[in-house]
Amino acid sequence: MNINFSTATFKDFENIPGFDMMERADIYYDFLEYMKTNGHRYRLQNNTGCSSVMNVGTQDDGIKEMVSFVTSDYLGLTQHLKVKEAAIEGIRKYGTGSAATPLIGGYYSYHNDLESKIAGFFGRSADEAVTFTTGYTANSATLQILLQKEDIAIVDMAVHASVYEGCILTNRKTFPHNNLEALEQILKLSKNQFRTKLVVIDGVYSQDGDTAPIEEIYNLVKKYDAYLMVDDVHGVGILGKTGRGTIEDTGLLDKIDIITGTFSKTFGNLGGYVIASKKLTNFIRFQSRQQIFSATIPPGTAAGIIKAIDLIDEEPHLRTKLWDNINYFKKGLNDLKLDTGTTCSAVIPVKIGDIHTTMDVGKMLLDRGVYTNPIMYPAVARKDARIRMSMTASHEREHLDKTLNAFEDINKKLHIAKK
Ligand code: PMP
Repeated sequence: MNINFSTATFKDFENIPGFDMMERADIYYDFLEYMKTNGHRYRLQNNTGCSSVMNVGTQDDGIKEMVSFVTSDYLGLTQHLKVKEAAIEGIRKYGTGSAATPLIGGYYSYHNDLESKIAGFFGRSADEAVTFTTGYTANSATLQILLQKEDIAIVDMAVHASVYEGCILTNRKTFPHNNLEALEQILKLSKNQFRTKLVVIDGVYSQDGDTAPIEEIYNLVKKYDAYLMVDDVHGVGILGKTGRGTIEDTGLLDKIDIITGTFSKTFGNLGGYVIASKKLTNFIRFQSRQQIFSATIPPGTAAGIIKAIDLIDEEPHLRTKLWDNINYFKKGLNDLKLDTGTTCSAVIPVKIGDIHTTMDVGKMLLDRGVYTNPIMYPAVARKDARIRMSMTASHEREHLDKTLNAFEDINKKLHIAKK
């Protein structure tokens, strides 16, 4: 076994040639212990609190109250009284679980209402949505059932892991992030070689917080008789004139072939959805193994989501507050000469580069009462490690100032600012 624990990343443990599953688990356990004794990874336990303030820590060091930037509860809807009340009412009515897969009786009136509601949210007719238990499943199940070995998925290399998983039964080609020339080249070469050509992109990219050039990609896709799928889990509720996401202001909401998303971020609950034509959603609903063989969203959760979707229109001040927070915080970081890259969303990275410095920054932030996610390979390229933060409407100015002060202090010690 030649894994050097001091430089290893999580990817190195996926497969260790010559070691069986038990041996690999042993080695991995030793690695986690090594990380712990070197103070690099807080073993977080029993988080309590909400999107902006959490009590976190370890059994060894005690639990501390921290400003938190680790949730994607962008509008703070996990804590919204009306969402909670709707979910409780849903539980009162139908109980805590759907207790069956959708196709054999686990599909309640709330599921039907939720599908109409989310389709309507995107300006589509009621039968143009199908829901899944998570956003991950919505992506992976959809791709797995739509694309077979005669087909090809052409994916931006920065798409989410669930898209990569969805491509295991088909051919896949990746193009460098947001690179239109490279995409066109692949489309050209694939035109006569594959049956279905499906380009898959994110609306907002989850690690950089930047957006896709949707109109340009849409035009290319149509030029080469391909289809387009956009996963907009980090855009919906945040971007667009009325919060419909990254696609809204392009005017293409009714033209993109497939839009996928989650109910676990802006909508503050759990679940995933696919928006597509009635025939495609029917096909996915009755053919995908995840619909046939796996239980779906609990009815109370579905009831909570329905209320959360209403709140996007009923309480636009939440989006205004989120954007005030984003702009204030980003300016504060940039005034410190910290590199926030190309973000134009609620995902805010502070780019550092080196993995170990990034982990040290994460630890120093924790010591100063700020809970963030150090992100490294394989989630991003090896030399592109960063601290990733998600802004919410629940953050107050005092939280942001405390965090900016912590960064200023850490920068004096570790010199992470841009030269
Ligand atoms: N797509 C993207 C871009 C994501 O960031 C995530 C969540 N990390 C998902 C899909 C999966 O969503 P869920 O958490 O609902 O499974």
